[in-house]
Amino acid sequence: MSSEPTFSTEILVIGAGPAGIAAAVSAAECGRRVLLIDDNPRPGGQIWRGANSDQGSATARRWLQRLERSAARRVNGCRAVFLPEPNLLIADLRGQRCAIRFEQVILASGARELYLPFPGWTLPGVTGAGGLQALIKAGLEVSGKHIVIAGSGPLLLAVAATARQAGARVLCIAEQASAQARRDFAFGLWRHPGKLAQAARLRWQSVGAPYYSDAWITHAEGENQLTAVWLKHGTQQRRIECDLLACGFGLVPNLDLAQMFGCVITHGAIGVDASQRCSQSNVYAAGESTGIGGVDKALLEGRIAGLAAAGFADKAAELFAARARTYAFAKSLAKTFALRDELRYLATPETFFCRCEDVPLAAVRDMPSMRQAKLSSRWGMGACQGRICGSAGEFLFGWSDTLSTRPPFTATALSNLIPSPLEVNQQ
Ligand SMILES: Cc1cc2nc3c(=O)[nH]c(=O)nc-3n(C[C@H](O)[C@H](O)[C@H](O)COP(=O)(O)OP(=O)(O)OC[C@H]3O[C@@H](n4cnc5c(N)ncnc54)[C@H](O)[C@@H]3O)c2cc1C
Repeated sequence: MSSEPTFSTEILVIGAGPAGIAAAVSAAECGRRVLLIDDNPRPGGQIWRGANSDQGSATARRWLQRLERSAARRVNGCRAVFLPEPNLLIADLRGQRCAIRFEQVILASGARELYLPFPGWTLPGVTGAGGLQALIKAGLEVSGKHIVIAGSGPLLLAVAATARQAGARVLCIAEQASAQARRDFAFGLWRHPGKLAQAARLRWQSVGAPYYSDAWITHAEGENQLTAVWLKHGTQQRRIECDLLACGFGLVPNLDLAQMFGCVITHGAIGVDASQRCSQSNVYAAGESTGIGGVDKALLEGRIAGLAAAGFADKAAELFAARARTYAFAKSLAKTFALRDELRYLATPETFFCRCEDVPLAAVRDMPSMRQAKLSSRWGMGACQGRICGSAGEFLFGWSDTLSTRPPFTATALSNLIPSPLEVNQQ
């Protein structure tokens, strides 16, 4: 008899960020049996990482307390690995194989940062913007460090606030969007009072750090470690000595799980109907993986998905109007922080484009698709399997195909791929 953990549930929720928490709580409060899994040690996702039911923002505390009170079962440190059959998920539970049988599934796997290549982007000391924030929240010591934060989107301010609270000196925040676009965005925020308050709070927390619009990093300098960056700001180009560069160009939805479940992808996000149902009838999706829009959208979509999966379509429909308002915000976010053309031309032919396999830009830039790039070089064959540079390739070269997702969907021990006698008996 195998000792591997096995679970059986009516509704499986993958991802315990705001969307997954809201989905799990909503479905569990309707009396359904719910299992919520996440690959992190604690629930919270990107924004509530490190928060708990006593600490963090009021919204985070409220949802985490509601999750604790609910009957939803939680399994942390559990990563979806592959789907041997439509209603059986194999997951990696802290290194051990774990089998989960489910009737319906809600995908709430969030987003990841978009990184664009520029000379020096692989130097130690250069991280993603959200990447640095996650490292600081996980305990990275940055006190007294000189940090440049660059790229695009509201996340830059949040990272600056986190870095300053941790004692770092933020030399500047370089936003590639134009000053006019940012002004229009700021004026439009009166329609979203919560966002306005959040923006004001973050700006206050990062006050003293110069915030430049129309500004981006052209290259990073250093032998074995970052020592300086070159910043283009309007017509000026200047060198800034620093210890760390945190650079991210917005977010892109995580699609791997949806691809594993065979769901249709629409405009770079998981395609869903009004009740958050995907093209596969027992699969729902919510949060950043259905389109970038922030925490309010994630919570509302999660609640709708949870209620709809639990069979309470009428209750779910009551939330449609509120969700529509979050879509208006998402639209203005996308318009304001649309990436400028100049960013396509930062990398030189020698710049490593695929950083896992050291494939230079020159080796793939004339390829018409990801598939061709993969066939003609080692592009996309490393640890990230094209997750990082695939999104960059879409922006730089207009690659529109996606790499096919093959099991295992993430790195895992070989033993985790072998079915246990118990599972075989159940088949
Ligand atoms: C790096 C980063 C930092 C961010 N920081 C901020 C911030 O400071 N402030 C802000 O307002 N917004 C921030 N955002 C945006 C924020 O993510 C969203 O507004 C909100 O958290 C979206 O919630 P979500 O539930 O859709 O996704 P997430 O919060 O990303 O939650 C998704 C969860 O799914 C888990 N997951 C993914 N794949 C699997 C799998 N295969 N198996 C198991 N679990 C899986 C992830 O580990 C994660 O915990 C950040 C985004 C990123 C990418």
